[in-house]
Amino acid sequence: MKPETIAVHGGYEIDPTTKSVAVPIYQTVAYAFDSAAHGAALFDLETEGYRYTRIANPTTDVLERRVAQLEGGVEALSASSGQAALFYAVLALVESGRNIVSVPQLYGTTHTFFAHILPGFGVQVRLAASDRAEDLAALIDADTRALFCESVGNPAGNVCDLEAMAAAAHAAGVPLIVDNTVPTPILLRPIDYGADIVLHSLTKFLGGHGTTLGGIVIDAGSFPWERYGERYALLTRPDPSYHGLVYTDRYGRAAYAGRCRSVYQRTMGAVLSPLSAFLLLQGIETVALRVERHVANARRVAEFLRDDRRVASVSYAGFPDSPYYGLVQKYLAGRACSLLTFAIRGGFEAGTRFYDALRLFKRLVNLGDAKSLACHPASTTHRQMSVEEQRLAGVGPETMRLSIGIEHIDDILADLDQALAAAVTG
Ligand SMILES: *Cc1c(COP(=O)(O)O)cnc(C)c1O
Repeated sequence: MKPETIAVHGGYEIDPTTKSVAVPIYQTVAYAFDSAAHGAALFDLETEGYRYTRIANPTTDVLERRVAQLEGGVEALSASSGQAALFYAVLALVESGRNIVSVPQLYGTTHTFFAHILPGFGVQVRLAASDRAEDLAALIDADTRALFCESVGNPAGNVCDLEAMAAAAHAAGVPLIVDNTVPTPILLRPIDYGADIVLHSLTKFLGGHGTTLGGIVIDAGSFPWERYGERYALLTRPDPSYHGLVYTDRYGRAAYAGRCRSVYQRTMGAVLSPLSAFLLLQGIETVALRVERHVANARRVAEFLRDDRRVASVSYAGFPDSPYYGLVQKYLAGRACSLLTFAIRGGFEAGTRFYDALRLFKRLVNLGDAKSLACHPASTTHRQMSVEEQRLAGVGPETMRLSIGIEHIDDILADLDQALAAAVTG
């Protein structure tokens, strides 16, 4: 089926008991065992079924199957937020003494996790000098366990050359992890270009209405863990924390997702609630329609800002003079994302006046809502970074990040126009 259809139907068969057409919300913590033997079989993973909602739940199952289908993966594991999904995704592959290699253009909290939290666990994150595959490849060594990138960086808007990165990763025998939050699978499916693991903040475009936090990790099922012997012992050798289970034996192609669930979801417990899964499923049903409008509106906004003398620069990957224009054609079929940054003339001061004058655009730190949103990264999401780290992440003191919503374009442009006027005259 096509993505538009998967988004509406994927992962759900009409409930055989109730015939409910909408996905039921299974607001339960636990599931009854028929007998001691049934309980034991469930705990040994010998029989299919539910035990406890921290491990799995029928409502979140539908969400996981739907997003796995949208991304073309074999299995997915949801989490309580995008950051929780990132935690599972990385920790399922590394132990103290290992490292991962990442692009420098990162979501602010991801940068904090990489630069400040993982090193405390003895896991080094090596940030490459740029998002070019050769710069990432140069940092790989025998202890590297993954390459990491955001398919489209937030807020930098850079588009990664996923095929080149996957080739560099696979040449070194490591998987490529891609945060695909900004494009969504409607614009780009990283697995089609060789990604092994995809993750999302469902909070953004997939949920789409700014009501519900959620995250998800998708396993492409393609990485040959067993080929590398001891290197991926976490997946290919008996796990003493799960009475000797070997994930590649038990879960086959979905070994990685299986370990994320059986080890990290089970012991850390950053679980998506069934009600949140239901709300996110409501959002996903319309994601294809919304993204189409987001993309069209963003192009109009980018053109409006580019042609306005009050604006110093616009960073929009859909312009032919953008360094990412070719990659937008290749990976996004020409549909540049609806996240864009610009700098107003008059620097930080004028930027603040512009920001304060916005009426329709909401001042906040979020993106991918149906509503148009404005964020000033240097004072908020990227505040913890040094100026040099900010520069590498594509953030200047005057950078404004806009997430263009699905309102009527005339109203969006009118708000930007009046805020620019206030910024310049103010
Ligand atoms: C928002 C975001 C995250 C974090 O997701 P939460 O759901 O807020 O935890 C991770 N990566 C990217 C690219 C994001 O935009």
